[in-house]
Amino acid sequence: MTETGTVLYPMPTTRVQAMKEYHPPLGSRDVLRLDFNENTLACSPKVRETLGRISSGDLTRYPQREPVEDIAAAHLGLAHAQVALTNGVDEAIHVLFQTFLEAGDELLLPVPTYTMYEVYSSATDARVVTVLAADDLQFPFERLLAAITPQTKIIAIANPNSPSGTVATRAQLLEIAARAPHALLLVDEAYFHFHGETVVDLIGKLPNLVVARTFSKAYGLAGLRLGLLAGPIELMRWVRRVLSPYSVNSLALACLPPALEDTAYLDWYVGEVLAARAEFEAALDLANIRRWPSHANFILTDIGPQHAEFVRLMHAAGVLVRDRSSDPGCDGRVRITIGTREQMRHAADALKPVLASLRTNEPLIAPKL
Ligand code: PMP
Repeated sequence: MTETGTVLYPMPTTRVQAMKEYHPPLGSRDVLRLDFNENTLACSPKVRETLGRISSGDLTRYPQREPVEDIAAAHLGLAHAQVALTNGVDEAIHVLFQTFLEAGDELLLPVPTYTMYEVYSSATDARVVTVLAADDLQFPFERLLAAITPQTKIIAIANPNSPSGTVATRAQLLEIAARAPHALLLVDEAYFHFHGETVVDLIGKLPNLVVARTFSKAYGLAGLRLGLLAGPIELMRWVRRVLSPYSVNSLALACLPPALEDTAYLDWYVGEVLAARAEFEAALDLANIRRWPSHANFILTDIGPQHAEFVRLMHAAGVLVRDRSSDPGCDGRVRITIGTREQMRHAADALKPVLASLRTNEPLIAPKL
């Protein structure tokens, strides 16, 4: 304590003091969760059975990731040395940025995009360069190419992108990798299963391509924190220096093989979401809500100046949706995750009285969900 009564405490680095704060609204979510693009239902029953078989003795051991990394690599048609499991894709992004970004470097991002790229980059000495998509939110390919400089060190592209749901084509990604041979191209395929197109097959063929995948979305394992990073052996060797050998816990490791094996469950869930997305798009069109075409398990909508009230009223009606108004170029826009057809019919039912209440300023009479 100083004479003036202020408490002294050790300060973090200047870099950390300048870091962006990010506190996602993860509290009180015991309603229909259409806010975080998770699987809205459940993981495969085979994963549940595996969890049930884990003994307390199993928990006493440190996790051994190599055999499971082998399985993940084989699943992607890659060599073990090309794949690292991570504590969610977030850890993959964090570790990749720690490994490659330093003062003088630029991280190039098309925006709007996934928030954590900027958060993790702000923990490094690199500068972020953003390229804002036009109003149609299509991938700003030409302008991204024009923004590549000798300082560009990483180009991060979520494909499909969040919150827009739009995509870059394989030809565009190849062109970017070729035009920035001095930079790493990170293609974040978190929503791959809802789109079906990948560049994983180019790993090792392009010397600067890395791909991230997550088990948080289609597989329904967001709570276990499991992701992976795939890239050329030379790059992955550096990544492994920074990556903790213990960061993927033994429950997550045990669940990966049954999650990958149960393709019937995965196909069923993805099929359900795609059918629900088409139905919900029709409901949005009927309600005259502008939306962007989506290749993922969510839809970005244009609610306009009443966006915050819309989110509040939808919550009151038992449906969580995500206000993306503070994302670049997204004023008034709200992202709605797509779940099963049954869930999305509930959401569409909730939508009608909420919109009516917004338009008339009458209090909400919400249907019982
Ligand atoms: N990448 C993108 C594009 C995402 O939208 C998300 C989740 N919101 C993630 C990565 C994070 O995935 P994980 O849960 O594996 O950390």
